[in-house]
Amino acid sequence: MKIDGKTKPIAIVGNPLGHTLSPLMHNYFFRSLGLNNIYIPLTVEEKELSGAIKGLWSLGFKGANITIPFKEKAMEYLAEVSEEARLIGAVNTLVWTPHGFRGENTDGRGFLKFLQEEKRWLPRHKKALILGAGGSARAISTILALKGIDKITIANRTLVKAQIIADKIVSHIGTPVEIINWEEKKLKKMVNDADIIINTTPLGMKPFIDACPPINTEWLGKGQLVVDIIYNPLMTRFLAEAFSKGCDTANGLGMLIYQGALAFEHWTGQKPPLEGVRELLEKELLGS
Ligand code: NAP
Repeated sequence: MKIDGKTKPIAIVGNPLGHTLSPLMHNYFFRSLGLNNIYIPLTVEEKELSGAIKGLWSLGFKGANITIPFKEKAMEYLAEVSEEARLIGAVNTLVWTPHGFRGENTDGRGFLKFLQEEKRWLPRHKKALILGAGGSARAISTILALKGIDKITIANRTLVKAQIIADKIVSHIGTPVEIINWEEKKLKKMVNDADIIINTTPLGMKPFIDACPPINTEWLGKGQLVVDIIYNPLMTRFLAEAFSKGCDTANGLGMLIYQGALAFEHWTGQKPPLEGVRELLEKELLGS
């Protein structure tokens, strides 16, 4: 990769950044297309976030990804925020404009694009059960509602967090949203009812690979799609059990790749080459 005075940088901003796959993915895209860009991780302290975002814009960064824990807070320091990101209540992508950065959210759209492209799955006439009510659940449930899903159920340990998402979706989009806690009887009914079950909790993520959302996998069966948005490990215990019950399954690498591809399009106006990227990221994860 050649770096010179014309190289346009793009950053990922978060804290802690840990082992992020985004630099590997985006630098692969830039190299493949011969673009003079570089993608770099920047760990920022919360009290410096405003200055950091202003600084990136002044330095002419074409854009940035924003990750945990700044996806909500960053919205305060932007010139504009897309309607979808505002509805989700968080940004994961900044795009340079002459007035300041514009905020976008590609998490939900990336999740759905992955399902459309690689699973031929569409939300119309479907019912979703979402486990967890954090930032990713908010992005995913908003996009499913915007794209016409029939019904969403959100199951969360802390009911009030699910209630906040439900209220926003019902009032702004009109899709019916039911909320439940981890109570077995209700969960079983909702699992039986769902076409797609999405784990957005960190239960099962490395190093706690024996953990699992509290779903008895005996309730699962053929015809259901089970997605775990965790990608490390590539096969969580939850996904492995769902697969053994005959469900179609997908891990979180698809969401990661497609949210990245959509961010890349915002920055460059080009579609990144997706061939080979999954293998590249899997190899990195298996070696980590
Ligand atoms: P978050 O905002 O912190 O939300 C986490 C949710 O999980 C909360 O609703 C929380 O419940 C629930 N939870 C956490 N620990 C739990 C436990 N021990 N028992 C029951 N529920 C628990 O996190 P997030 O940003 O949505 O991310 C969640 C996961 O998605 C992480 O594993 C992250 O790595 C992954 N992720 C993947 C992608 C991708 O591209 N594939 C993108 C973003 C995130 P309470 O409300 O009760 O606290």
